[in-house]
Amino acid sequence: MTDNLQAVKAVDSEVYDIICAEEARQHDVVRLIASENYASRAVMEATGSVFTNKYSEGYPGRRYYQGQEFTDRIEVLATDRAKALFGCEHANIQPYSGSPANLAVYYALAELGDPVLGMGLPSGGHLTHGWKVSFSGRFYDAHHYGLDRESERIDFAQVQRLAREVKPRFIICGASAYPRLIDFERFAEIAQEVGAKLVADIAHIAGLVAGGVHPSPFPVADVVTTTTHKTLRGPRGGLIMCKKELAKDIDRAVFPALQGGPHMNQVAAAAIAFHEAMQPAFKTYAAQIVANAGAMADAFLEQGFRLVTGGTENHLLLVDLTPQGIGGKPVAQALERAGIVCNSNSIPFDTRGPFDPSGIRIGTAAVTTRGMKEAEMGRIVSWFARTVAALDDEAALDTIRAEVNEMCQDFLVP
Ligand SMILES: *Cc1c(COP(=O)(O)O)cnc(C)c1O
Repeated sequence: MTDNLQAVKAVDSEVYDIICAEEARQHDVVRLIASENYASRAVMEATGSVFTNKYSEGYPGRRYYQGQEFTDRIEVLATDRAKALFGCEHANIQPYSGSPANLAVYYALAELGDPVLGMGLPSGGHLTHGWKVSFSGRFYDAHHYGLDRESERIDFAQVQRLAREVKPRFIICGASAYPRLIDFERFAEIAQEVGAKLVADIAHIAGLVAGGVHPSPFPVADVVTTTTHKTLRGPRGGLIMCKKELAKDIDRAVFPALQGGPHMNQVAAAAIAFHEAMQPAFKTYAAQIVANAGAMADAFLEQGFRLVTGGTENHLLLVDLTPQGIGGKPVAQALERAGIVCNSNSIPFDTRGPFDPSGIRIGTAAVTTRGMKEAEMGRIVSWFARTVAALDDEAALDTIRAEVNEMCQDFLVP
């Protein structure tokens, strides 16, 4: 498998062995962590390319050091492709990852202590949307909207009430654990009414937006942030897109306010990922992600499980294990033993604590990249059900693991 790491092997067999073991793990298990994927070989090669050797503080044509002929070319190419792919006026590809991208937006759009409004972590929001243990909750006057108890969908009446009350500099929408479409227009109307900017964080769904199976936040959002490594399937990294009039503020926030030299190896790899996302095959992949999630939802409901919101419209599902009377953690641990890797997750209005939540979050991006389809989703859900019924039966879990492993041999990883 790892035929391209001969230098690593020669220099450091200890690291080589660990990388090979991780590669085998990624091959032999069913990976359902909703934020993960398999990047292409091309993306991984570019990530490991000579651009890792270059310092390029500044922006194309405005750098601090010499020797920027090719860093300028690669950054212009990457940002032009991002703009074409998402249909936006300005793109900044330098954020090291999704959280630094969001930090830059706070820096650009608000002063310390200013009011901001984001989705609460227990409702599916991200730490950087104002949660108290993050910089965003610590240094800003962060307020949170959540979900409607009945529908488990975003409570727009609450969003509007809080927006009027709090008068936030910006409203941030987008989530890490929300199985439904985000209504960007509805958020934009509320933001406009109270004179707030709208920030859409599409970290999880960027690949679905690029693939045309989730509505785009453009043109209604003022700023859009994303990671490049989740459904978008690029290298680990961040991206900020915005309207022209905010371009200067965003660029200054990323550099020099928050970061030094950009990671040009990561930028080169992101350029490739954007190119891949513009191909017809990517649309097929994005549509299959959603079809696979839908097939899984059907299978879960058939097996008697409860899903948050009753189903899914994107790449992820939240299984509520409350009816089974067990927590998500022991189930996630048993699933790992059985070769199915996912994470326990809070469900809306969870009555268990955040370290012992009631749900399991599942995403279909990685298995879709491997070429798995509806039939495999059915098999995965039946293994899930068998695992839940055999939590402490190690022999049963090992039997499932052997079956999982056998299926995985039929599906290539990049
Ligand atoms: C993953 C995620 C991020 C942060 O990305 P990192 O690259 O892990 O820093 C930000 N926002 C949302 C909604 C996410 O899901």
